Amino acid sequence: MSSNSGYNLFNEVNKFVDEAAQHLPEVSPGMIDQIKKCNSVYTFSFPVEIDDPVQKFHVLDAFRVEHSHHKLPTKGGIRFALSVDLDEVKGLASLMTYKCAIVNVPFGGAKGGVHINKKLYNEEQLEKVMRRYTFELIKKNFIGPAIDVPAPDYGTGEKEMAWMVDTYQMMRPDDINAYGCVTGKPIVLHGIRGRKQATGMGVYMGLREVCNVKEDMDSLHLSTGLAGKRVIVQGFGNVGYHSAKFMQELGDSQIIGITEYNGAIYNTNGINVEQAMAYWMEHRDFKGFPDATFVEDGNMLLEKECDILIPAALENAITENNAPRVQAKIIGEAANGPVTNAAAHILREKGTIVVPDMYLNAGGVTVSYFEWLKNLSRVSFGKLERKYDEQVLDSTLKLIEQKTGKPLTEEERDLIKGPQELDLVNSGLDETMTKAYNEILEARNTKSFDSLRTAAFYVAIDKISHNYTTLGVWP
Ligand code: NAD
Repeated sequence: MSSNSGYNLFNEVNKFVDEAAQHLPEVSPGMIDQIKKCNSVYTFSFPVEIDDPVQKFHVLDAFRVEHSHHKLPTKGGIRFALSVDLDEVKGLASLMTYKCAIVNVPFGGAKGGVHINKKLYNEEQLEKVMRRYTFELIKKNFIGPAIDVPAPDYGTGEKEMAWMVDTYQMMRPDDINAYGCVTGKPIVLHGIRGRKQATGMGVYMGLREVCNVKEDMDSLHLSTGLAGKRVIVQGFGNVGYHSAKFMQELGDSQIIGITEYNGAIYNTNGINVEQAMAYWMEHRDFKGFPDATFVEDGNMLLEKECDILIPAALENAITENNAPRVQAKIIGEAANGPVTNAAAHILREKGTIVVPDMYLNAGGVTVSYFEWLKNLSRVSFGKLERKYDEQVLDSTLKLIEQKTGKPLTEEERDLIKGPQELDLVNSGLDETMTKAYNEILEARNTKSFDSLRTAAFYVAIDKISHNYTTLGVWP
């Protein structure tokens, strides 16, 4: 993202892996090599028709990388952006492997992308691009509910996933599990409630766990809890918006800055996230937003004083160039790879707590896992037991009323309502994020690691290497 020539996300991830691997002498260098390598790489190109009578076509470069087959299917999003190249996709695919291991989601890592400037194309052309991309994956067996399951990422969302699943179904009408070929679908196409906001919800839950550790907050001279924490968010797309929304609504944090690629807003008294989103949707620009100061260069906000900085745009946002000036006490990596290896070392020296991407943004893949399970079982969560649970609770409450002679209030009666799909999804996500953070924290504390990232990679590599050993592939 920042001009940092020679930047390579895959190398950046592998530097972090190597640092953690030093603490796992029982895992052989050969095994570490196997874990780091990308198992299958597919690079391809295809044309898209444009409204130019002379040129007529643009040829787009596209990629799908399955990083690790130690668990199948593989899983990872599809990115539509100009930043997309093979090394970016390899780096993102490898992060998915470690991410899935950390949150105990049974997938290998994968990622895909198209090198594209979306602004140059209308919706019909973008649909053709997504359908052609999917078709190419089908041809090479790089997609399927048991093979490789894409999801949304930067520049894609529910609409693109709908085009993908429709194309897959047309080509594979005999696949009874076809809906499980991709996650992040609209609800009407067998998506799951809570997936769209899952990554942001996970960011909130992860930061809540981080801020509940008293020793860590004491070391930063901060109180425990999220309430009142001053937060700046970079990137106001799916992940950035939902992270800011839940930090404000559920955590009672104060969102003091929001940046986009074309400018930022800043107010030390706090910004109303819903009002900022309504303004952004209408203008696609923060200029003129009332109740906040407009800042032309959004990157300046990365260096403003705050408690928590949430980069939620692209990788390479905090580098050795700006890290010395970053004043945030906690950096929550909602984006993938926003802090480079060199910057991470500078921040460690400063005592900044960096909450690593592979943990913090794992809410998306966690709820994608629930969606995939729903698609394979063809039943929504809670459907079988909701009424039964309500009846059992109702009888129990009636019994209590009879025995005590005191009728319950309407509010108390409301307690009998069985959980909806969204309640179960959020409960599963909360359990996953909390448990994963405890594992990372325990590793950091018992091994005296100087960063949560090293602890997270340590936990992930340990799990993946055990998986290989159990398979009998490695002695
Ligand atoms: P998105 O396309 O919905 O939003 C990204 C936003 O960042 C856009 O609004 C874009 O204009 C903005 N942006 C681009 N450059 C910027 C800059 N220099 N400064 C400020 N803002 C800038 O994408 P997303 O799905 O929210 O993904 C964001 C990040 O989160 C990516 O790194 C992605 O890999 C990661 N992620 C996404 C998911 C998911 O479920 N979508 C899951 C895990 C991780």
